[in-house]
Amino acid sequence: MGRKGLLLVFSGPSGAGKGTICRALLNEIPSLRLSVSATTRPSRSGEIEGKHYFFLKRDVFKKMIEDGQLLEWAEVYGNYYGTPLQYVQKTLAGGNDIILEIDIQGALQVKEKFPEAVLIFIVPPSKSDLKLRLLSRGADAEGEVARRLACVASEMNFAWRYDYIIINDVIDRAVSNAAAIIRAEKSKPGYL
Ligand code: 5GP
Repeated sequence: MGRKGLLLVFSGPSGAGKGTICRALLNEIPSLRLSVSATTRPSRSGEIEGKHYFFLKRDVFKKMIEDGQLLEWAEVYGNYYGTPLQYVQKTLAGGNDIILEIDIQGALQVKEKFPEAVLIFIVPPSKSDLKLRLLSRGADAEGEVARRLACVASEMNFAWRYDYIIINDVIDRAVSNAAAIIRAEKSKPGYL
């Protein structure tokens, strides 16, 4: 049996802790790689080109769509975000596993193209907790935080379309739950 890589998709409301969980998983599981998305959003301070995102002009992003270079793409909070296809293909073909940290619209596109993809939804313990996290991380202006919070209720309605839901109340527990899911998925006959 040829060992295939696992395609993992993490979504959840902004501030639910996807990034923290994914970073911990990358440290813990040596076969894991992280997909770096393309976006037209301006970079935040501290963000590095090619590490956090590929920051592109709108016309360049649109050309990537036209040329079929994106596995999925979506407009989120007024900016375009997308997953470069080639890196995902290369990683999986090499037998490594890949994490996509993307929004719901993108996750559903991935599931359509790759039914074997494993979709994991990260849920914050409460809306007030989420607001606190968004404000304390200080990455976005208050108006932007309000805009992101306003999307939460409708985002939560999509949780049932995912394969797994993890409640991020205690970060260590959320990470070990995610690691357990990955181990279980990799133990399925198709991946051995
Ligand atoms: P942020 O601006 O906070 O970095 O990301 C905003 C939202 O865009 C998050 O929900 C994030 O998961 C999502 N996102 C990031 N990269 C991608 C991508 O490649 N495709 C899609 N569909 N969503 C993405």
